[in-house]
Amino acid sequence: MKELACYAASDASSRGRRYQEAAPNYRSEYQRDRDRIVHSGAFRRLEYKTQVFVNHEGDMFRTRLTHSIEVAQIARSIARILLINEDLCETIALAHDLGHTPFGHAGQDALNRCMSDYGGFEHNLQSLRTVDELEQRYADFPGLNLTFESREGILKHCSLQKARELGDVGERFIHKQQPNLEAQAVNLADEIAYNNHDVDDGLRAELITLESLCEVELFREQYETVLQSYPELTGRRLIHETIRRIINLLVVDLVETSQQSLQKANPANIDDVRSQSSPLIGFSEKMKSQSLELKRFLRKNLYQHYRVHRMTRKADRIIQDLFDGFMNDIKLLPPEHQQNVKEHEANSGDTGKARAVSDYIAGMTDRYAIMEHKRIFDPSELT
Ligand code: MG
Repeated sequence: MKELACYAASDASSRGRRYQEAAPNYRSEYQRDRDRIVHSGAFRRLEYKTQVFVNHEGDMFRTRLTHSIEVAQIARSIARILLINEDLCETIALAHDLGHTPFGHAGQDALNRCMSDYGGFEHNLQSLRTVDELEQRYADFPGLNLTFESREGILKHCSLQKARELGDVGERFIHKQQPNLEAQAVNLADEIAYNNHDVDDGLRAELITLESLCEVELFREQYETVLQSYPELTGRRLIHETIRRIINLLVVDLVETSQQSLQKANPANIDDVRSQSSPLIGFSEKMKSQSLELKRFLRKNLYQHYRVHRMTRKADRIIQDLFDGFMNDIKLLPPEHQQNVKEHEANSGDTGKARAVSDYIAGMTDRYAIMEHKRIFDPSELT
C-alpha cells in the first residue's frame, strides 16, 4: 500500500477517543471504528430503512444499507487516488445514515415537527447520537467510542445552537472550519451515489422515463455516447452502461479538481485542512452545475412524484401517530423503552421524555414502524 499524504488523517495525528483505550492490535484506529460500525445494531437496521422507495415496494431498490455500501465504495476509490485515509472514509460512509428515521426524508420531517418544542430532530445529529450514546455494546463506555475524526465526519452539518452544546465536534461550525478530507470525500461520494442510484431506481419503478432524463445534459451526453458505440443495446444494460459512465465521469472530475486544489493550498497536515476557508475536495464548476441540473430533475420528477408523495403522507401519519400515542401514554411502549423514557423524564422532564420517544421511533425500520402502528391503533390487530 502506498504511503498516505501528509494531509490525510492518521493514527499518529488523531485527536483520539472520548474514553481512552489501548491502541488496537494489528488494526489501525479507523479500522477499529469501521469494525464497530459494522457490528452495531443500527447498521443492521439500515437494511430495512427507506432510501426513496419503501423497503417492501420491491427487492431491487436501494435501501439505506446498500446506499451506504455504494457510498463507501465510491469514497474508498477517491481515497486511494488522493492518498487519504481509506479506512476513515469507509467508516464515515457506513455510519453517515445511521440516524435516519424510517421512511426516509418524510420520516425525518415528521419527527422533526413532532419534536419542535423539544429541540427538534435532525438525522445528522441522530447519527452522531447513535454512535456516541444509543449503541450499548461495550463494558467500558457508552456508545461505540469512535475517534474524533470519525465523529467529525458523521456530523456533516448542524445549527450554531446545537454546535455549542456538542463540544469538540461542534467547534468547527462555530469557527467556520472544514472537516477532514476523508469527510469531505464521503460527503460528495454520497451525492454521486444517490443521484445515480435514484436515476436507476426511478427508471426501474417507471416513475421517470429515458426520454425525460435526456433533458438532463449529464445523462444525455453519456446515453448518446453509449448508443453510438452500441446501437443495438437496450433495456437494463443500456441504462446501467450509461449510469456507470456518469459515476466514473463524476469521480474522475472530483479527483482531478481536488488534486489541483490540494496542490494550490498545499496543506502540511490535517489541521491545515481544517483551517481552510472552503473544502478542498470538490467538483469543477462545470460538473457542479451539471450535477445540480440532475438533482433538480430528480426533485421535480421523482421525489415529488405523486406515488412517492402518497407514501410520504402515509409515513407522516405513522410517525405523528406513534409520537403522540407514546407521549400521551408511555404504557403503550414495550417495557424496556418505558423504563428508558421514565429515566429521561426524571432527568430532564418533558424534553427528556420526548427525546427518548424520538430515539425509539428513529431507530425503527420501515416495517417495524408499520407493524407497531397497526399493533397500537388497529383494533383487529393482535398485540
Ligand atoms: Mg446518504
